[in-house]
Amino acid sequence: MISIFLSIVVGGLLGHAVDAGYNGRLMHYINSPQSEAIALFSPEVVQKGKGGWRGEHAGKWMYAASRAYERTGDPQLLANLVSVADYLVSLQEEDGYLGCYRKDKRFYHRPGPEAMVVDWDTWIIAYLIKGFTETTVATGDPKYADCALRLAGFLHWTVFDQGIKIAQTGMHSGMAGCGMLDPLCDLYKLRPDPKVRALIDECLKEMDETPCLQLISLLVKDYDVSLIGNGKIYEMNRCMTGLAKAYQLFGDERLLQACLNGWECIRSTHLTTLGGPWGGINCCFELFNRPAEWAPYEITETCSFMEWMHFTWEMLQITGEGKYASELEKTAYNAMMAARAEDGDRWIYYVRTNGDFGPGADWSCCWSSGMTALEDVPVYMYEARKDGVYVNIISESSTALAVKGGQVRIDQVSDYAHTGSAEFVIGEVPGTEAMPKGAWTLAVHQPEWASSFVVKVNGKEAKAAVKDGYIRIRKAWKAGDRITLEFPYEIRTLERSWEYSNAGSREHNFSNWYNGFTKHYVTFCAGPLVFATDHFDKFAEQHPVFLTREQIAAASLIRGAKPSDLTLKAGDTVLKPIAQMPAYEGPMCRFIWFQIQ
Ligand SMILES: [Zn+2]
Repeated sequence: MISIFLSIVVGGLLGHAVDAGYNGRLMHYINSPQSEAIALFSPEVVQKGKGGWRGEHAGKWMYAASRAYERTGDPQLLANLVSVADYLVSLQEEDGYLGCYRKDKRFYHRPGPEAMVVDWDTWIIAYLIKGFTETTVATGDPKYADCALRLAGFLHWTVFDQGIKIAQTGMHSGMAGCGMLDPLCDLYKLRPDPKVRALIDECLKEMDETPCLQLISLLVKDYDVSLIGNGKIYEMNRCMTGLAKAYQLFGDERLLQACLNGWECIRSTHLTTLGGPWGGINCCFELFNRPAEWAPYEITETCSFMEWMHFTWEMLQITGEGKYASELEKTAYNAMMAARAEDGDRWIYYVRTNGDFGPGADWSCCWSSGMTALEDVPVYMYEARKDGVYVNIISESSTALAVKGGQVRIDQVSDYAHTGSAEFVIGEVPGTEAMPKGAWTLAVHQPEWASSFVVKVNGKEAKAAVKDGYIRIRKAWKAGDRITLEFPYEIRTLERSWEYSNAGSREHNFSNWYNGFTKHYVTFCAGPLVFATDHFDKFAEQHPVFLTREQIAAASLIRGAKPSDLTLKAGDTVLKPIAQMPAYEGPMCRFIWFQIQ
């Protein structure tokens, strides 16, 4: 048997970010019961009655730390995780409550004593359930899932004996409360308890019956996501992650249709070129825009792309289709990389396609969400399916997988992000039984940007079938076999138009003096990467950079000594991959959309 540890090692751009996140926020922001985000739950602090959303970091960290421990087997991280999780378990009250709200301020008081203050109580409980569930998965110790079950039992009492509506316990048209569907499904998968099932059914019912939400019905009818609830991006994606998990557990074609429609609506209309669900044009920064509204100042909250990746991963699990993998790859290489800082600790709150950063601070929801997204990426890269190995995110990496009764090692050794070439080397896993017997499939998602490809096996061109978005090569592979996929690495431009109609107040991004104008914009990509400059152009103070059609057509890639020394020249401007422009360095500004002259 291979160990579950070291099941994947990631290199290249993504690996660099994963390592930085691990040695940064994951090991330091929380590492013991004394860490501030955990001390919030201590009786002394709870008694002060502050409460608040800050309690969510505990659950997010336990989830990310558990995944990181599964990947690395680091005993120090395990010690940190166990000390924090044990301390939290020890604080669980007799009735099952565990949180950071004082008794008189908890969500189950009706009417709420201070409605706006209790808003995050169940949100925090939901993240604790998620964290405890993953901690049991990672450590094998059932006591954490037991604690999560007691929390669920407590929620069950408040909902079914006290008549509390889950939707009413949180903000954003009920989506913050009903988002607990996601961790409840995680817990049910591990512990199929009838009380958890009842809560799952209640979440589904309230998501649909809450008058200002009606999430499932409206998605089934193919309404645009901006018209559902208050359009809050993060919470709606979290609800849809829950819907996709509930479908996998219990079936129900309505849930599937809701998920398919919701995902496609976001992908086709509400994603930035960087792969982040965005909003913020004439509305709150964190709400979806209506489809017709666009401006080069798109805003993605880091929490939103983290949850979009969760939702997309679940859709990949349901359908097995490569288009979901392609979106995961795009978001990982661009939106995620654009939001991180080099120290692995700080993150951007708002990633703007043109404009200054929304930096946030230690307590920002986004800082822990970025940390979480980094630990999800290695999990998403490879899948062992019945017929072979599926590659969902292409990156330098080494992994070991169980396929067709055997064990196989796969190394991806080339700098795909900068060259468009992916080279997989098949190997044996030392100390394990034989390689898989007979033929099996190596399936690599065809990136949505790659219109063609060439496959070579051991240097010779080979045929490959494309099905459901994956390039599939089937063979009785032996150790040392090399499979190379070459995708055309050339500049691609994307264009959009900004119609300055209905521009809002200056406060809401845009000034009315632009009304009636239409401006055309272009952005540059090559391979999986989007290119940017640190030029200053923000909504409140616009300094667009102009390019002529001739300059756009003449744009060229410039290569240095290493594949990663890659720049793009357009007119007089030199652009770099946004993945190589960490936040908090240089001008606090970046820019991907150029105005066409
Ligand atoms: Zn956030």
